Amino acid sequence: MAEHTAKVTLATRIRKAAARKDYRPADVSPQRRVQRRYSMRLWSVRHARFLERLYNFFADAFLLLHPFWKAVGYARAEAPVKFVEKRVKGLLFDCRMCGQCVLSSTGMSCPMNCPKQLRNGPCGGVRANGNCEVEPDMPCVWVKAWEGSRAMAGGDAILTVQKPVDQSLRETSAWLRVTAEAAAERERERAGEPA
Ligand code: SF4
Repeated sequence: MAEHTAKVTLATRIRKAAARKDYRPADVSPQRRVQRRYSMRLWSVRHARFLERLYNFFADAFLLLHPFWKAVGYARAEAPVKFVEKRVKGLLFDCRMCGQCVLSSTGMSCPMNCPKQLRNGPCGGVRANGNCEVEPDMPCVWVKAWEGSRAMAGGDAILTVQKPVDQSLRETSAWLRVTAEAAAERERERAGEPA
């Protein structure tokens, strides 16, 4: 009896497996579906130079708007700016809103997508095909960071040692923080004060 049940179970398993094999949704292979998940962030790395120029322009524009941010209040501007930043960077970089953006130093590849969240280069587990040891289908963010950095004018910034992540800045706007810091620095220079 037990033998019969085992045979039936095996036959059922084989039939189910065959049915799964025949099913190919929308003519897209599972491999291509996985690759598509990373396609936007890989596009950003391939266009790191263009995005670097765009970011520099954007950062200058934000700094020009410093009197406006100040009049409104940086704290009050935080919510709407963060709303936009999260969506734009989420789409382009799979941003995790760490609040201390280092994309300019990492070839436009966000290091927070590293499962180990390493901010200073890859671990020792990068696979021979350049993929992550924890997520085998995902290209290592640091392999991509190096590729992206080679296309950027300021790409050597990748050699700068990054500070550990300050968790208190999570879910805050890096755009506004960088703008406020640049404005303060500019005011110090104008006043002739040491940095
Ligand atoms: S480094 Fe931080 S702020 Fe920049 S894209 Fe990655 S998670 Fe977002």
